[in-house]
Amino acid sequence: MRFDSITRVSLDNLRPLLSLFSADLAIDLGTVNTRVYARDKGIVVNEPSAVALDNRTGEVQAVGKEAKEMLGRTPGNLRVVKPMKDGVIADFKVTEKMLNYFIQKAQQRRTLVHPRIIISIPSEITQVEKRAVTDAAYRAKAAEVHLVEQAMMAAIGAGLPVTKPGGNMVVDIGGGTSDVAVISLSGIVYSRSLRTAGNHMDEAIMNHVKRKHNLLIGERTAEQIKIEIGSAYTLDRPLTMEVKGRGLIEGMPKVITVGDSEIREALSECISSIVSAIRVALERTPPELSADISDRGIVLVGGGALLKNLDKRIREETGLPVCIADDPLCCVVLGTAKILPDFKFLRRISIVSTGKQMGPQMLTKIGTQRVRCRITRSEIATRSEIATRSEIATRSEIATRSEIATAAGTQPHLPVRTIADRLRGLFLLGLVLNLPYRWRRETPPDR
Ligand code: ADP
Ligand code: MG
Repeated sequence: MRFDSITRVSLDNLRPLLSLFSADLAIDLGTVNTRVYARDKGIVVNEPSAVALDNRTGEVQAVGKEAKEMLGRTPGNLRVVKPMKDGVIADFKVTEKMLNYFIQKAQQRRTLVHPRIIISIPSEITQVEKRAVTDAAYRAKAAEVHLVEQAMMAAIGAGLPVTKPGGNMVVDIGGGTSDVAVISLSGIVYSRSLRTAGNHMDEAIMNHVKRKHNLLIGERTAEQIKIEIGSAYTLDRPLTMEVKGRGLIEGMPKVITVGDSEIREALSECISSIVSAIRVALERTPPELSADISDRGIVLVGGGALLKNLDKRIREETGLPVCIADDPLCCVVLGTAKILPDFKFLRRISIVSTGKQMGPQMLTKIGTQRVRCRITRSEIATRSEIATRSEIATRSEIATRSEIATAAGTQPHLPVRTIADRLRGLFLLGLVLNLPYRWRRETPPDR
């Protein structure tokens, strides 16, 4: 058996033991809501992705629900920031503060071993943003960080057989983006992210009420209208709602009544864009998988899936069976939580995976000095792979540890040692010195 396979086997054997001391976390970093699942506890955080900051000092005043309550009601010295926008990180620093707050909140008591954290991120975020998320999790004392794609997690959360050869189509309609993905054999065959989702529907309602009723309303009121009477297809029974806001002409508070048909009209452009993204995805799907999808249908997840009659509209337009996942809002975090104990599967599907797993040891040169650098196995395996990702090898054969780590997308500085590391070290030392064998040989036979 090779040295590195011994280390992998030993670490994987220790994992169930170590898991007794740490509370691993699964995080869904959404544009509108962030959810955290702690192993053995369930969903411990389910709050809006919002942070209230002091304008002068930049200090965090409130995070999550409390911050969202303040939206549109803040005095001059406070502002509410939504750090995620259109499925990308618009404000790195605030995202980091928010993530840190939620991780601390999820870990109410100090644990012996730092947690492993899996974060599901939108499919279109850049390398720099991935790095920012990973670093934020490390600063919140994670032992290992894995980034996975929300589309895959949504499919797992919805209970689709993603590991089997067969096409599964998932449409995740969130706050900032609607993601259409076709998944087969644990991989994403096709995915497209459309920047039209819940937030844009709210904006469309705000514009409609302003234009048609001369009434100014805030984001929260528009969202309420969408949730209560918004629809994508004619309803069985008409709905109306009283809306309060500020009259555009008189400048005074005013109350009007809106009906479901005018809101449906206001939402029609957003709905059409989502439907056409699904059509495009179906057109671009390989024929075998297309046939599977026509049997299995389309699964809707995300908060937008709850828009009244959206499933009916998509069914009408595509002619395919459409169903809504059991818990569309928590589908992604529940999917992420499902893979938390399955380390092998996690390694296979994670897009960035860094931490203190024992990977191949790499010898690199800094001048005449030889430096041993540990790179995570699932992320990178050979020096030539590093070379293809960066220009280190083409420039010269000299590479610093931080250069390699940057190329690999890992931490330039190895995180602080934990009990896990030490146990593993002792175990390996024993194996290397072949102690059990020596002891057996050196023990004098009983007379
Ligand atoms: P993200 O993952 O981007 O944070 P979510 O999946 O949490 O987004 O969904 C949030 C979006 O879903 C918001 O725009 C919210 O207004 C919308 N939403 C939540 N419930 C409903 C509902 N019943 N009808 C329509 N839209 C809804
Ligand atoms: Mg989401």
